[in-house]
Amino acid sequence: MQAVLAELKKVQPSRLVRARIVAGGLHQLVSANLTFAYKVLTKETPAAGSFLSIRRVPITAECRQCHWRGKIRGALFACGRCKSGDIEITGGRELYLDSIEVEQGDPS
Ligand SMILES: [Zn+2]
Repeated sequence: MQAVLAELKKVQPSRLVRARIVAGGLHQLVSANLTFAYKVLTKETPAAGSFLSIRRVPITAECRQCHWRGKIRGALFACGRCKSGDIEITGGRELYLDSIEVEQGDPS
């Protein structure tokens, strides 16, 4: 959220249309809650009325036993091949602002 507002100050657009964020699967954020929080936070800012898009990134891991690499499915954090729990999480912690879409005022 702060990243969005900082970016807006730089660009000084007339209107923010959409903000895209990337959220790793390890962040248990509920899209609906986040969308609501975004609405509240952007009130009275140039971002008011804009959309928030959330791109989810899967949780990925690497097995320390058999060197398997892949996506973690479900709640069980285990290797997809040998089922070992000795894995290293390699993806899914991401949480950042990806891009913003703005609308500039009358070009003339
Ligand atoms: Zn394994």
